[in-house]
Amino acid sequence: MEEKYLLTCPVCENKNWSKIYRIDSWDIEECENCGFAKIDPLPPRGNRQLCYSKEEVVARNTKKKSFSRNLSRAAKRLFGKITKRNKSDIFYNKLRKYLPPKSKILDIGCGDGSFLQLAKNEFNCAGIEISEYLASLAGRIDGVSIRSGNFLNTDFKGETYDAITLISLLEHLDDPLGALSKCFSLLNENGILLLKTVNYGCINRKIKKAKWTGLRPPDHVVYFAPHNLSRVLKRCGFSKINVKAWPFNDNMYCDAIK
Ligand SMILES: [Zn+2]
Repeated sequence: MEEKYLLTCPVCENKNWSKIYRIDSWDIEECENCGFAKIDPLPPRGNRQLCYSKEEVVARNTKKKSFSRNLSRAAKRLFGKITKRNKSDIFYNKLRKYLPPKSKILDIGCGDGSFLQLAKNEFNCAGIEISEYLASLAGRIDGVSIRSGNFLNTDFKGETYDAITLISLLEHLDDPLGALSKCFSLLNENGILLLKTVNYGCINRKIKKAKWTGLRPPDHVVYFAPHNLSRVLKRCGFSKINVKAWPFNDNMYCDAIK
């Protein structure tokens, strides 16, 4: 029998949902109380590991690059490097603002380790990645410790961290409350959670509706807006929560302190 989850809103515990958009074979549903959104039906949990197998990851990355399809190979490589670099720089600079050198960092959903490659210059770095293929790439980076597996099922054996980063990961999780609560428990006192996720509250989504680039079922399963992201982090126990969202940016950034 199919497992039912996310029936209750992880932000406000309401159980009533409204269908807002239809995209291929999925509905996008909003919580009638707080506006948190999710896809329906949710992808079966047993398939998650499979979704991130080498073949799927490679196929997805090829598809995602459609924007740069017409560029020359050298320009494409440069474009890829610059966008990856920018994202890593933002998080690296934030970590340096908050933490002294050698602090312990955990990057959840670390992918091929491109962020940790930079962060290890100053910090003591670890990563976890659900795709065995990407974890094997990240594992080749000297001096970082990489686990392969599902974050929620992983036993960290009492290990704690000074900072946790979730870079474009939250939207992929069907248990965002569980994941953020686990982040809270893995952080040291005054530890910091840094995250980037798609902003369901942005103007682009309101204009483009079902055609908004952030709506990507079944890859993106949950969608927060700034107000309900703050609310769910408060629910997990975080105190100082700072969400940075710009009306025309498809993504938002958030720093939260334990
Ligand atoms: Zn809600």
